[in-house]
Amino acid sequence: MANKGKVILVGAGPGDLGLVTLRAKECIEQADAIVYDHLANPEMLRWARDDAEIIYAGKQAGAHAMSQEEINKVLVDLAQSGKNVVRLKGGDPFVFGRGAEEAQALVAAGIEFEIVPGITSAIAGPAYAGIPVTNRAQTSHVTFFTGHEDPAKTESAIDYEALAKLGGTQVMLMGVERIEAIANEMMSRGVRKDLPVALVRWATTGRQQTLTGTLETIAKKVVDLAFEPPAVAVFGEVVSLRDTLKWHEEQPLSGKRIVVTRSRKQASELSDQLSSLGADVIELPTIRIEPPTNLREFAELVQDAHGYDWIIFTSPNGVNAFFEMFYKLYDDAREIGPARIAAIGPATAKRVRDFHLHVDLQPEEFVAEGLIRELQKVGSIENERILIARAEKARDVLPKMLSELGAIVDEGFAYRTVPETRDSTGARRRLLEEGADLITFTSSSTVENFLALGLPWPKGMQVASIGPITSQTARENGLKIDIEAKRHDIPGLVEAIRKFFSA
Ligand code: SAH
Repeated sequence: MANKGKVILVGAGPGDLGLVTLRAKECIEQADAIVYDHLANPEMLRWARDDAEIIYAGKQAGAHAMSQEEINKVLVDLAQSGKNVVRLKGGDPFVFGRGAEEAQALVAAGIEFEIVPGITSAIAGPAYAGIPVTNRAQTSHVTFFTGHEDPAKTESAIDYEALAKLGGTQVMLMGVERIEAIANEMMSRGVRKDLPVALVRWATTGRQQTLTGTLETIAKKVVDLAFEPPAVAVFGEVVSLRDTLKWHEEQPLSGKRIVVTRSRKQASELSDQLSSLGADVIELPTIRIEPPTNLREFAELVQDAHGYDWIIFTSPNGVNAFFEMFYKLYDDAREIGPARIAAIGPATAKRVRDFHLHVDLQPEEFVAEGLIRELQKVGSIENERILIARAEKARDVLPKMLSELGAIVDEGFAYRTVPETRDSTGARRRLLEEGADLITFTSSSTVENFLALGLPWPKGMQVASIGPITSQTARENGLKIDIEAKRHDIPGLVEAIRKFFSA
């Protein structure tokens, strides 16, 4: 029999990916299998290994969530088959998270386990709403309780009498639906009607919303605004500090859900910049970068790189593929010889410099025409030997124009873009169920491959494009472009999005 695996109960934090602990990230990166909950932000599954088995234990549209017994069994079975399992739970696993029940089931089955505490929504939710759970001037203690009890219990386990007497700050998890009954219980035990109350929903994410009121008014507001779970509720004087301390909901892209369609490996630059402006980002990779069909032919061209007058790079992927191959063949950067290097676009140039090589030519405009103009400034192109490292099936204007001007051009197909078939983070399901405000396209292939997925277009989802070529592909496919970047790179796209939403 295979050695038994181990289960790590990991706190996934309240939603913001920046609030995941280093240990949690490391566990996700190493896991053979990951079982995750509704409240664990699935975007963190992008850190998982490509071959990790990923199981969603939350509620699916039209289907029931797995029962606790089923989840326990899945964890035990996976571990018994030798897998190292990460059980990802929203917030902290032991704060109203049934983590203890799962750990007990593991103990009963003789399976080794570990606990990785997480930042609980009970503290992070109020903090992101600008509400400190304690503050010297107002309160010296805080209580956590749940508004949603085990339905099997006959008497309420919440001692409202004691809560009323205790005062201080009280944070309630679950039970937004029962807010009216809970507020009434408190008031009937003498808690003042105008005690400030706040509800924070989807706290710490780009979808965070906060509702404030008093014990007397909060229930009606919840109904009027259809304020839905998940939310944490805070009762206490500290709530009034929000007026001066609110911050998260004030960011330029707060409340905007934005889809990133680039390949998983490239997405993070765009995702991180959007998240840092407060957006709720869904990474839905539509393409994947693979080695070219004829790797050998590419290798031969790379081997002869020193024989060219110019090597032209048109994308960071091309640079990566070129130097990966180059350093397989050579162990000295000087083997590149006298070849000069041209790069289209600042991201491509930066990638070249990452390999500690100088970029001899970088056109102002990020298109083929701009590059040719710059090359001609340096001297005649006639009889110049030029290697272009690029994607298979890329636009062929550049080699054509160079050849017409008399250059001797070799095209090195460095990589190829294929449709992404996997959806390990459930991004497609989330897009369907929850919609989005904006989708970003960073190349024609992201447009084509997104449309090829055949997903129904979410209501009101607008389109942002990195530049005219991508926009043209989108228009040809019947899309309307709402935002087009002025600078055709990631910072340029982010800037255009920020401007659009602040207008
Ligand atoms: N273990 C989790 C709590 C699980 S109970 C933790 O430590 O945070 C589920 C409840 O947590 C929800 O009903 C809601 O009250 C709260 N919750 C979890 N994540 C939340 C979030 N991002 N925003 C608001 N409430 C959240």
